[in-house]
Amino acid sequence: MQFKHRAVIDTIPNYKQGKPAPTSANIVNYKISSNENPYPPLPSVVKAISDKCLATFNRYPDMRGTATVERIAQEFQVQPEEVILGCGSTEVITQLVNLVAGEGDEVIYPWRSFEAYPIIVTNAGATSVQIPNLPDGSHDIDGIINAINERTRLIILNNPNNPTSTALSKTDIERVLSATPKDVLVLLDEAYIQFNTCENTVDGIEVFHKFKNVVVARTFSKAYGLAGLRIGYGIADANIIEGMRKTAIPFGVTDIAQKAAIASMNAYDELDDRVQLLIQERERVCELLYKQGWKFAKPYANFYWIAFGERTDEMQEVFRSKGLSVRAFSNEGIRFTVGEKEANDRVIQILSEYNPADFE
Ligand SMILES: *Cc1c(COP(=O)(O)O)cnc(C)c1O
Repeated sequence: MQFKHRAVIDTIPNYKQGKPAPTSANIVNYKISSNENPYPPLPSVVKAISDKCLATFNRYPDMRGTATVERIAQEFQVQPEEVILGCGSTEVITQLVNLVAGEGDEVIYPWRSFEAYPIIVTNAGATSVQIPNLPDGSHDIDGIINAINERTRLIILNNPNNPTSTALSKTDIERVLSATPKDVLVLLDEAYIQFNTCENTVDGIEVFHKFKNVVVARTFSKAYGLAGLRIGYGIADANIIEGMRKTAIPFGVTDIAQKAAIASMNAYDELDDRVQLLIQERERVCELLYKQGWKFAKPYANFYWIAFGERTDEMQEVFRSKGLSVRAFSNEGIRFTVGEKEANDRVIQILSEYNPADFE
């Protein structure tokens, strides 16, 4: 049916969700396409939500998520007025873009990066200024700085970057901030910060304490394993947070998600053990792939990126036929989530049958 609508919507690509695990017979199939945590929910988190929310979901949640906000504020030594929740950090980023950018305004971000950025920016009516990554997949900091002009309303930095898994140094981030006018905001998207072992990187909250135009977005989806519950948070100056509240989806964060987030923060040690195991697994897998001759940037998130170029679709099909769903970007490369050990071993096994030189 034809209907009147905003023409700009027709320019938005559909978000392509990581494919579910294949259904090949006679093998165990794995999904390593969405950067999810392969560990099942922690029993203590399951218990907290079963005890506390399952009998009350006829009621709306606390819209501000007061208890969760206070817990986050305490955890990071910021004020509760400097914290906002979102239906995943995807919604936090959406709140921010809707707050600062509309018709005629520009949002600068690296590309390739998080698929949601162009969708969010275009929906807001603003213009995306995509700065191609350097050949190793890292942000082109000079390119980002050179793109700043009087129409710039927001600069997004993704540390580590999805899908290339590269990290930003403290110098990179501070260079961008020094070049940004004081009344223009810089978003540090730190969805994977818990996996970031890069030595010279910097924690976004430290940067926020130094530069008031910084907004930090984080999520419980990845390291904390709450992807299906949808909760993330933003940390920023209280005036920015107040503005973001106006653009937030009312009641977008469920009580179950709020309680699960608190229970997860209370189970930090247990969750951190899992994060450390995933980091060790990442290092093990990458070392073996480097030994096979594959060349790719050292990853700092729970995934790694190999540029297969024009053979990307062919390789995706190889992985699919062997029971692995991976995230492929045609003609560019494949992002592999560090998943179950068996899944990671299968990637290594499959790639051992190819010659990396054939992809250069
Ligand atoms: C996964 C991800 C997010 C947030 O995901 P939510 O599930 O919405 O919290 C944000 N940024 C990047 C780069 C991501 O990969």
